[in-house]
Amino acid sequence: MRILKLKKADLYRFLEVIYKEADIWAPQKKGDKFVFDRVDDFSKIELQTTRTIIPPKKIMVPPMFNMFDFNEAGYKEDFSHISKKILFGIHPCDIHGLLTLDKLFIQEYPDPYYMGAREKTLILGLSCWPDEHCFCKSTRTNIIEEGYDLFFTDLDEFFLVWIGSSQGDDLVKLAPDKFDENLSDKDIQAYIRWQNDKEKAFKTEIDFVTMPDLMELKYKAPFWQEAGDACLACGSCSMVCPTCNCYNVADKTFLGGKPGKRIRTWDSCTLPEYSEVAGGENFREDKSDRLKLWYTHKLQAYVSKYGKPSCVGCGRCIATCPVGINVKTIARALEGEEVDAFWKKMSREVTK
Ligand code: SF4
Ligand code: SF4
Repeated sequence: MRILKLKKADLYRFLEVIYKEADIWAPQKKGDKFVFDRVDDFSKIELQTTRTIIPPKKIMVPPMFNMFDFNEAGYKEDFSHISKKILFGIHPCDIHGLLTLDKLFIQEYPDPYYMGAREKTLILGLSCWPDEHCFCKSTRTNIIEEGYDLFFTDLDEFFLVWIGSSQGDDLVKLAPDKFDENLSDKDIQAYIRWQNDKEKAFKTEIDFVTMPDLMELKYKAPFWQEAGDACLACGSCSMVCPTCNCYNVADKTFLGGKPGKRIRTWDSCTLPEYSEVAGGENFREDKSDRLKLWYTHKLQAYVSKYGKPSCVGCGRCIATCPVGINVKTIARALEGEEVDAFWKKMSREVTK
């Protein structure tokens, strides 16, 4: 693997060159938060972001899209939402999120829509710095060794650029004068210092090794009911999670012989309709049962199949859930700690 050096001032010049190849999408400001969006103005790219509201899974599988048009004669697949893109500024945890989706949508159940978008998207990763919600060190997704075409580590004065694929190498060849192969000892020391400082900067840690057993041992613990009572069943935790992948399909038909459409939309196991079957029976009517399903998948079931949690430590559920139900508070409750979260306070109010 080749590692090159790029001067800070040359980043936008490099992006200008590769912009001719495909649309660039990157983190940009939206109010006081960040979103991945198509770049029209390079000065709007945010290099110092933590998490975006929605992870880049929205580029591979949009929240809603038409799978195919159909009529009496047959159907025609619709790939019109897929186009060539360069995704710049994606952090290691979100690259791990895509690698998790790859397991399902490429290896287990090949999904032509996901695979089509994945093939047409180049991944240009960017290093980041943890805030109080990040815990990717605990999920070991703070380091990335695969899944990118180029990866930029921001060392203040310059970037170290890892080339992760032949397509990444081709991008570099479009602007060879901007990159330097000669790294000095000083450059390497700057990288080692940055790496050590980042390791120490994490404020949230979770012991994922014990989680599968605790999920089993605490399956009937009272806190599940308390969390379920507080849960708003809004589904936001799934929408923002880079590894959540459930979806629903529904047909849209029209009068006058127009072709129908099969629409695919993101779904969440925390929503009441998720476990509803024909006849109106619902196997998980109670919100606590739906939360247990979500956390069983994240902390236990995925570990037994793949040897790691289906959580990449991005902190989005922590930043998003309006009542404080998230991997951190559930992990603390599983460990038997007194949790200082809105859902816990609510249950204390009710029992007063
Ligand atoms: S469970 Fe929460 S912290 Fe883990 S990947 Fe999903 S949103 Fe991020
Ligand atoms: S856990 Fe939080 S984010 Fe998820 S559905 Fe319940 S209230 Fe919404």
